[in-house]
Amino acid sequence: TGIYHPLDTLDTKHEIPTRLDINTASLVLSQFPQADLAEATLAFIDSGTNQSISYGELRRSIYSLATALYHELEVRKGDVVFLLSPNSILYPTICLAVLSIGAIFTTANPLNTESEIAKQVHNSGAKLAIAAPEELHKLVPTGVPTLLTTRPSDGKKPSVEELIESYYNSLELPQVNVLQSDIAAILYSSGTTGVSKGVVLTHANLISVMRLLSWSAYATESQHDVFLAFLPMFHVYGLVFFGLGLLCIGVTTVLMQKFDFQAMLVAIQKHKVTHLPAVPPVVLALVKYASKTSYDLSSLKRVGTGAAALSKEVSLEFRKMFPWVELRQGYGLTESTGPVTFFATDKDSKAHPDSTGKLLPTFCAKIIDIETGKPLPPHKEGELWLKSPAIMKGYLGNLEATTATIDSEGWLRTGDLSYIDENGFVYLVERIKELIKHNGYQVAPAELESVLLSHPLILDAAVIPVEDEETGQIPMAYVVRTAGSELSEDQVIQFVAGQVAPYKKVRRVSFIDTIPRSVAGKILRKDLVSQSKHQLVSK
Ligand code: AMP
Repeated sequence: TGIYHPLDTLDTKHEIPTRLDINTASLVLSQFPQADLAEATLAFIDSGTNQSISYGELRRSIYSLATALYHELEVRKGDVVFLLSPNSILYPTICLAVLSIGAIFTTANPLNTESEIAKQVHNSGAKLAIAAPEELHKLVPTGVPTLLTTRPSDGKKPSVEELIESYYNSLELPQVNVLQSDIAAILYSSGTTGVSKGVVLTHANLISVMRLLSWSAYATESQHDVFLAFLPMFHVYGLVFFGLGLLCIGVTTVLMQKFDFQAMLVAIQKHKVTHLPAVPPVVLALVKYASKTSYDLSSLKRVGTGAAALSKEVSLEFRKMFPWVELRQGYGLTESTGPVTFFATDKDSKAHPDSTGKLLPTFCAKIIDIETGKPLPPHKEGELWLKSPAIMKGYLGNLEATTATIDSEGWLRTGDLSYIDENGFVYLVERIKELIKHNGYQVAPAELESVLLSHPLILDAAVIPVEDEETGQIPMAYVVRTAGSELSEDQVIQFVAGQVAPYKKVRRVSFIDTIPRSVAGKILRKDLVSQSKHQLVSK
């Protein structure tokens, strides 16, 4: 039939129940350690502030914040709450409180600029924003009522912390009927083409991913394991792992506000971190620099990597330098609520350093021939299509993009060129969608092109990825100048940098007479990518 099925199934002994009256928040809370163990086990430690919270305290914080949001701020089922904050103990508290009253959260990268934030606030229809004090200024112009996470120095605005304190005797959640078909979260992704869009995820989507944590590859994790979270919780990877999933296993997570290599090594040593979910640039940094430092990394048991391609060389080098650490690659998308493939065992992972693992339970795949649209047999390269209860409901208010991405039978087009071998291992070959990934972060070429086109001396522009060892990819712009203009490469770079978040900056510019386009007017990016390769070789 051309359909690949997962070869491992969920271990039903540990399976999380999927009764329809259970929603994400009630499910996660039901998996918390109980009674004395809940008070004795830390859910989170903030590595910056050294604040910590036990599972028992986390439960009470979620109950009290949910009560306050419902009674004091009148947040109701279906209302969208915009969350703008770096990782903190409050992040998962806010997400779970919002979910428990049937409201929807949407997240954004705190590095985003004021206008990027304004677009998302508007697009998501947010009724309330919750922001770290240092991000408040980006929300003021949007006019959306904003609650701060912590009390600012002037102390005038109420904060999440104070609400939790004043409702701390709430012994249960407000009674709101939340169904699995209800929307839980809106995360932003550009998908296969165009600008950033709201990926609508339901409670059923999130619960489907939570269930994977009871799969045998994870079920070995114990309360003694310590995870380190520098991956941001605004992205699906950090959110499903640290914000929701790991709480179902009862482990302790050490949070970092943002990634810093040195601080990461300090935290591993200090907290005896066992598990490090990471991205390829971090694995590369460990290979390159960890041996030059004297930190004790012997507690590490497993490093995970995903969000972008890990090179086989780096993977082999890592194994050589850290023979006591497992290296497990996974692959996923925002549109699939995160993880799609993973390695069930380290033996498999070691034997297939260029694969991203096998399909996770609940996922089926097809490899579709790009020319003929027909499903392909093992070892043949084509576009990876996916089906699972974890596939998003669609893009918010964008039927056109939704139907272009999910077909009538529910198959999601990933935009990733891949193949699957006869043993079910999945190999990512290259990205055929427009998306650029810089340090694991999404950069949408269409967004940068529209910034470039707003320059009076730019007639036309196209943005493509250029491979980069340290960061994965960097955005490069091909620019057509207006007649007689002497616009320089540096001026173009500065112009874009002034309007976008730092990770989206155009880092290389080439001037060109015309942008190659198809008859239908689509930019022929492939042509530009091969042109850039020639240019770089001849430099
Ligand atoms: P995002 O929605 O930001 O998680 O981005 C999803 C995209 O990241 C995928 O469609 C892939 O193009 C890329 N990606 C994720 N994991 C991997 C991986 N292990 N190897 C290569 N590319 C990956």
